[in-house]
Amino acid sequence: MATKYVYFFGNGDADGDESMRPILGGKGANLAQMAKAPLSLPVPPGFTISIDVCQEYYKLGKKYPEGLDKEVASYLDRLEKTFGKKLGDENDPLLVSVRSGAAESMPGMMDTILNLGLNDKSVLGLANKTNNPRFAWDAYRRFIQMYGNVAMGVDHDKFEEIIAEVKSHRGIKEDTELTTEELQEIVTKYKAMYKKEKGEDFPQDPQVQMWGAIGAVFGSWMNERAIIYRKLNNIDENVIKGTAVTVMAMVFGNMGDTSGTGVAFSRDPSTGENHFMAEYLINAQGEDVVAGIRTPMDISALEKQQPEIFKEISTIRDRLEAHYHDMQDMEFTVQEGKLFMLQCRNGKRTGPAAVKMAVDMVAEKMITKEEALLRVKPDQLDQLLHPQFEAKALKSAKPLASALNASPGAGCGQIVFTADEAVEWDKAGKKVILVRKETSPDDIAGMYVAQGILTSTGGRTSHAAVVARGMGTPCVCGCSDVVFTSKDAVTIGGKKFKKGDFISIDGSTGNVYGEVIPVTPASVSGDLETFLGWADEVRAASVRTTPSGKTVKGFDVLANAEQNEAPQAFRFGAAGIGLCRTEHMFFEEPKLTSFQKMIISDTTEERKANLAAILPLQQKDFYGIIKTMEGRAVTIRLLDPPLNEFVQAETPDLAKALAKKLGVKVDFINKKYAELNEHNPMLGHRGCRLAITYPEIYEMQVEAIARATAKADKEGLKHDVRIMIPNVTTFAELKQIRAQAEAVIANVNKELGVSLKFQIGSMIEFPRAAATADKIAEYADFFSFGTNDLTQTTFGFSRDDYSKFIDSYLDQKVLLQDPFKTLDEDGVGVMIGLAEEKGRKVKTDLHLGICGEHGGDPASIALCYKLGLNYVSCSPFRVPAARLAGAQAVIKANK
Ligand code: ADP
Ligand code: MG
Ligand code: MG
Repeated sequence: MATKYVYFFGNGDADGDESMRPILGGKGANLAQMAKAPLSLPVPPGFTISIDVCQEYYKLGKKYPEGLDKEVASYLDRLEKTFGKKLGDENDPLLVSVRSGAAESMPGMMDTILNLGLNDKSVLGLANKTNNPRFAWDAYRRFIQMYGNVAMGVDHDKFEEIIAEVKSHRGIKEDTELTTEELQEIVTKYKAMYKKEKGEDFPQDPQVQMWGAIGAVFGSWMNERAIIYRKLNNIDENVIKGTAVTVMAMVFGNMGDTSGTGVAFSRDPSTGENHFMAEYLINAQGEDVVAGIRTPMDISALEKQQPEIFKEISTIRDRLEAHYHDMQDMEFTVQEGKLFMLQCRNGKRTGPAAVKMAVDMVAEKMITKEEALLRVKPDQLDQLLHPQFEAKALKSAKPLASALNASPGAGCGQIVFTADEAVEWDKAGKKVILVRKETSPDDIAGMYVAQGILTSTGGRTSHAAVVARGMGTPCVCGCSDVVFTSKDAVTIGGKKFKKGDFISIDGSTGNVYGEVIPVTPASVSGDLETFLGWADEVRAASVRTTPSGKTVKGFDVLANAEQNEAPQAFRFGAAGIGLCRTEHMFFEEPKLTSFQKMIISDTTEERKANLAAILPLQQKDFYGIIKTMEGRAVTIRLLDPPLNEFVQAETPDLAKALAKKLGVKVDFINKKYAELNEHNPMLGHRGCRLAITYPEIYEMQVEAIARATAKADKEGLKHDVRIMIPNVTTFAELKQIRAQAEAVIANVNKELGVSLKFQIGSMIEFPRAAATADKIAEYADFFSFGTNDLTQTTFGFSRDDYSKFIDSYLDQKVLLQDPFKTLDEDGVGVMIGLAEEKGRKVKTDLHLGICGEHGGDPASIALCYKLGLNYVSCSPFRVPAARLAGAQAVIKANK
């Protein structure tokens, strides 16, 4: 039998179901699921052409696979029989919509054409049959416009100009006021314009129309905005392979005041609260809500006007949630008092809403904690940690206007009026708020860089709102107090603003302010705390066997932090500090000056004297970190970078300034600069190599650590301090440095009358270190993989230079991922696995972790779990996401 390409739904049954998303797309699969038992919801009949056809279409150079035409013809025939009308019938025509839908929802990114099947003759039949000529002509003019624009590429504005012209001619404001005659006039003008633009008449044959629309939908898979959307949302084209096309009978929300169209969310997608949220437009078609052209009414108004419909849609809401165990986003249309479901899907939501729903649904026993943890993308947590207005500044600020709180968070910036300006200004380092009547999919790049989005029309389900929520960008929409006075100026609540003026918007309250309000970061509390607590439980309870056969329990998330970041790391729930970079602690004065003096010292005595000046300052910082972390691990890495980073004298001006600051001659600085300068500092005199040549540097640092810990110990504070040696390539380096460190510690113990012991461990950041990890393990209490350097040296890619070629590598698929973002399993992962196996052969319980930037990347975290590491360490801001990503890795590994 030939491949089945087409799947029917309608009449209480369907060929497909929700499990067929990869073939039917989300829209097609859910329409089938809703149509058939047990849901058996009122869905207009139709058929879905599979995603396989989309793939074939592109493979064959935009041609259809053989036999598709016949298959479609037979399903159209079935649709006509089911619905009791024929496409193009001159007396009582069937009209259809031709809709796009990929396996993952890409709202508004691809094309859909409504009211297809109308032509100069069938429009008369429709007018006659419905006894509603105005409706018929409105549908026809909509169809010409949509088909002309979407399938044939006629500029949208050309249609809008004609409408505007007719409206102004007749002194009309709203589209709904247009009479039948005026709509007929518009149709005539549309067709004339179309002919001028395309050099041919608007197609009258419904078959030509239908295939034109099907081609347009498949074509829209590769349109620019869909491609950008997939890139921004990391949608992998090897997994989400194309769009399906659904052809279904039209139902009409624009047949008068007992008709209308709505979009509903079973819970609030912005806050997550468990209340029904819907927006409804009377006497309108679906695209009017989505396009944000008119501002819809709230669900409570529908409850008053059409209580039976409200009751029915409320029941459907409950049944769909119970069926899908998730928040539903639904499209529905009411045709003369009868409700039809046109779409449902798991609704997109903000980060805060995702967390709240996950926590609530566990409490409602709708899902398990594990399911809840898989519901939230680690990246989404960033939105809960978004800046908010400074409370004090907010108090004294007065809103100029208030509208729909469409996407939460606070944003402050300069007004721009176009997406292109937003992109330009962002490149110039400015922060912008994009202010528009409404947004369209073409604005997506500008929306992405904006601090906030403000629109004058459209509801919570308008394009601006949906996209902003997806991006986590603050958005206030439907703000009728924003009035456009020219291209470059608006009034907000009566006050004038031009391009470049500062405003602030609050997407959580809907308030708009005509002033700068400073923003502050947020913290982990409430539902997020509960949620991440579950993630911690799951990781703590985890047990796995590593590829080398060892059993490892637990999986922690630590932070990379110094004295200034430690409090934030603690607040965000880090189980400790996995990397405290001592060199970062020298950036502040007066430490920097002493450190620079130490570097330019000519003799060991001079160097020791300068180190002695730094010691008490470092000790104080270490003590502060130990105290902040309340007994959690604090891993301190001894000096790592090449010293020349601290002696910047490449220009005469810099040299002069540095000489003055350090109280030496410029010549001397220049001489030192020349000495320190290296051809390849990343592979030069750095890390433990410094300690082999100048042991006094590490000795001072170890002394500062020991004294700080002794002070904490004497004060009864809990402590768990570990010393980490960077850049180890041979066990002999570690052996020697460890002996020196232990001697220093013994002296401090003796002097202060304490008996402190420290774990001393090694970074593993070179292939040689991994290859000889068994020998290194004899002198190391732990390993920490420095995956930035390990990636550099395994690939032989310089991280400072790879930007020159990485884009070409990715575009040409020479590499599938940027190895500095996502840990390379095949190469770097093998090095880590080798070190794990060799290290634990010598010490069974050798503690292992990573401290590179990969520690915050979900895919890399999953790999670390698989390889048997005990922890990952990442920047404090990434800690909440890593706590979740780690738990997800555990849950997925156990499935
Ligand atoms: P998108 O993926 O951009 O939401 P849709 O295919 O869902 O595109 O269609 C756009 C709008 O047209 C939606 O509001 C939808 O409800 C409406 N629509 C689609 N098909 C029909 C139909 N057969 N009858 C009435 N309205 C429809
Ligand atoms: Mg839709
Ligand atoms: Mg390193």
